Amino acid sequence: MSIKQNVYDLLTELPSGVQLVAAAKTMEVSQVMEAIQAGVNIIGENYIQEADAKYGAIGDRVKWHFIGHLQRNKVKKAVAIFDMIETVDSVEIAAAVSKRCKEIGKVMPVLIEINSGAEEQKSGVLPQNALAFIKEISRLPGIKIMGLMTMGPLTGEPEQSRHYFIKTREVFEYIKDLNLTGVEMKYLSMGMTNSYKVAIEEGANIVRIGSKIFGPRKTG
Ligand SMILES: *Cc1c(COP(=O)(O)O)cnc(C)c1O
Repeated sequence: MSIKQNVYDLLTELPSGVQLVAAAKTMEVSQVMEAIQAGVNIIGENYIQEADAKYGAIGDRVKWHFIGHLQRNKVKKAVAIFDMIETVDSVEIAAAVSKRCKEIGKVMPVLIEINSGAEEQKSGVLPQNALAFIKEISRLPGIKIMGLMTMGPLTGEPEQSRHYFIKTREVFEYIKDLNLTGVEMKYLSMGMTNSYKVAIEEGANIVRIGSKIFGPRKTG
């Protein structure tokens, strides 16, 4: 299967209202361009250096979502490249992003990464801490909280993810109903190649898909 065909198939399959983020880590500019030509308009990147190189070649013809673990010393670059940071999970990073955005007159849309219970994954805010965390960072002027993101289990059967997606959606709806000032719970980013169908059934409106578009990643 070509990248183009994979994208066409996915875009045909996804219900309207569900946005596709092409998770492009390790992929070359030419591969990302092929996906863009087939209709992808959001690229997800995990690593700042890699994103910077691809952003330099591809630019603003697409939106860029950061989906990796952001480090403090990479915030300035991240703010320059990305249109959304999906993985905010600490006050320190939220404050650093906000501060940099204020300096350059930008407001960064962010999602809060929820550690919905996947054992192998340690980043993210625990579901029971999400409300307090969101309240705390919602006062920061340079970011706008726009929803939640979760990884779920990285391996295993798709059905094993359902529980984690349900839990994240419950937190999403609970916080949405509170109508907190400065918080717009609009996006729920859940699901990858093995789990996106279950994620959509459980309310995801952003799916982050890599290998189903680009083929398996080279390891090592
Ligand atoms: C790599 C990655 C994806 C996509 O994974 P696939 O299984 O290749 O679809 C989604 N989300 C995050 C955060 C990733 O790092």
